Amino acid sequence: MYVRTVLGDIDISNIGHCQCHEHIYLEKGYSEKVNKVLCIDDYNKSLEELKHYYSNGGRTIVDAQPIGCGRSSQKLVNLSMKSRVNIIASTGFHKLIFYPSDHWIFKVNTEFFAELMTKEIEDGMFVNSDLNYPRQQINAKAGMIKVACDVQGLDNTYKKYLLGAANVAINTGVSIQCHIEKANTAENIVNYLLEIGVDAKSIILAHMDRSIEHLKENLSVAKKGIYMQYDTIGRFKYHSDEEEINFIKEMCDKGFENNILLGLDTTRARLLSYDGTIGLSYIREHFMENLKVNGFKNKQLDSFFIKNPIKALSKK
Ligand SMILES: [Zn+2]
Repeated sequence: MYVRTVLGDIDISNIGHCQCHEHIYLEKGYSEKVNKVLCIDDYNKSLEELKHYYSNGGRTIVDAQPIGCGRSSQKLVNLSMKSRVNIIASTGFHKLIFYPSDHWIFKVNTEFFAELMTKEIEDGMFVNSDLNYPRQQINAKAGMIKVACDVQGLDNTYKKYLLGAANVAINTGVSIQCHIEKANTAENIVNYLLEIGVDAKSIILAHMDRSIEHLKENLSVAKKGIYMQYDTIGRFKYHSDEEEINFIKEMCDKGFENNILLGLDTTRARLLSYDGTIGLSYIREHFMENLKVNGFKNKQLDSFFIKNPIKALSKK
């Protein structure tokens, strides 16, 4: 089994501590106009953050920014080389509010978009291509398909892109990670992917812990065998870490310990090198200890940060 990183395919034994949804570097552009915390464009600060993560025992991250909205394939390669942190880059699409109305993503059909994502996974990612249709490729490949739905959940506009992404996941064996805006929209999205034929073990739902009161919705999708990614740790506008830990405990008590992935969904607001609040190493430095104080065993931590990521991220 192997995982596709920006520096090539690596054996799963080299994954180590992994956070499955982060943002470490973005090119200046439209994303930061939509949300100013997406201004993460200082290469040296991003490198500093990753080096700190490595020195704290962090070994792998998934960079969850897809093509066409600020992702820089070449900078991710350089950052990985210099920091020694494995970076799994994403192809796919974000919420459509992150693209200006004349963006190429609104002009492609399902098949064409699927072909583009396949090229990113099998041949090499395109260079930064926010303004023009992507043409120039580098050797580094994407190892994740990031997709998104907005508050309304699965509508015809998003279905068009999601269908393409689902087919690419089936054909390449790379997992799909879906940004969920509202927990009650998740079931329809998961059912749609499963109906197309995506393996449950290739589906990761992101942000389902933003509203931890939605335990019922979390349980009903987790039962389908997919991965539940809780990446709202340290985002105190949503809830405290203690509430997050209780929520994780409830999911474990219901039998979903092997489905849980964790991360911070970092932006400028939380990256320490950008004067943010907690830093990419917050989990290693604080949250893991907090889990242990609250009764979690080392074996469970290994599942959340090593074993489950390996299963969720390896190319099938
Ligand atoms: Zn994110």
